[in-house]
Amino acid sequence: MPELPEVQTVVNTLAGRILGRRIATVRLLCDDIVDPPGCDLVGRLQNRIIRAVTRRGKRIVFSLHDGNRFYIHLGMSGRLTLEPADSPILKHTHLILKLVTDATHGQSDDGLHLRFRDPRRFGGVWWIGSEADGNGCDDRIGPEPLTLHPAQLAKRLARTRRAIKSALLDQTLIAGLGNIYADESLFAARLHPLTPASSLDDQQIARLNRAIKTTLRRAIRHRGSSLRDYVDADGLAGGFQNLHRVYDRAGQPCPACRTPIARIVISGRSTCFCPKCQTLQGARDTKTKSLPGHARHIWPDRDQCPKPTPAR
Ligand SMILES: [Zn+2]
Repeated sequence: MPELPEVQTVVNTLAGRILGRRIATVRLLCDDIVDPPGCDLVGRLQNRIIRAVTRRGKRIVFSLHDGNRFYIHLGMSGRLTLEPADSPILKHTHLILKLVTDATHGQSDDGLHLRFRDPRRFGGVWWIGSEADGNGCDDRIGPEPLTLHPAQLAKRLARTRRAIKSALLDQTLIAGLGNIYADESLFAARLHPLTPASSLDDQQIARLNRAIKTTLRRAIRHRGSSLRDYVDADGLAGGFQNLHRVYDRAGQPCPACRTPIARIVISGRSTCFCPKCQTLQGARDTKTKSLPGHARHIWPDRDQCPKPTPAR
C-alpha cells in the first residue's frame, strides 16, 4: 500500500504539471469509488481549475478555484498517473480527468489525462467541499509525522497499551505510516515492535520520533518504495525498496549485527525486526520464541496476506 513517502512523491510529480489547468471533461467509469455516494462528482469537477495539490496523511488533496476540495486515496493498489489523452485506457481505470490549459483565444490544448486506476478498489475519491462550509480534510486522522514534536507523540502513544507497531499503523494516532515505514522506523529507533506503546520512556519517544522523520525523509528522497503496484504520477517506480533494512527481509542478515531478521504477525500484519538490535524490555529471553502469545512467530514461513480494510 502506498504510504506517506509514495503519496508525497505522487503529489510532487503532479504539482508541477497540473496547477492552473482546467478540468475540461470528467469520465467516472465506476460510481462505487466515490464517497459520499451520489454526490455529483462529475458536475462538481467539470470546468473547475486546479489551484493546489497537497498531501494529508496518505490522502492526495486537490483544491479547486471555487474553494472546494476532494481527495484521492490510493488504497492498496491505486495509481494516479498523468498520461497523453490519446494513450490506451487500461482495465480498472475508474476516473479520468481531462486537464487543459486555456489559451487566450478560447482555444484549448489537446489536454492531458489524470487517470485513477485501482484494480483492488480499496482506494477511491472523497468529496470534501469547502473550508468555508466547515468541511476539512483532517477528519479521523492524526497529526503529520514529519512535523510531530516528541511531546505530541508521547501524548498520543500514552493513550494505548497496544504494541507500538499496531499504534504506528493507526491513522487516527499518526497519519501516513504503513507497514513498511513502521517496521523501518522501529528498527532505526531500536524498539521491539511488541513494546507496549504507553510504556515508552522519554528517551525512547525522542528516538522513535527522530527515526520516523529520518526514515520518511530518506524514503521521499528516493521517491518511495515500489514493491508491487506503486508508481508515481509519471509512471516511474521508486527506489527506496533497495534500502529497506528489515521490511520484507526475513531470514536475511541484519545490516547492523548480522543476526537473521525475524518475522512475526502483530494484529494481522506481517512485521520484520532484528531480535538482537530490537529487544523486548522485560522479557527474560529476547529471542522470538519467548514473545508474548498474541504474537505469532511464523518466520521463515510465509503467512497469508491479511485481508485489507477499505482506506479512508
Ligand atoms: Zn541487528
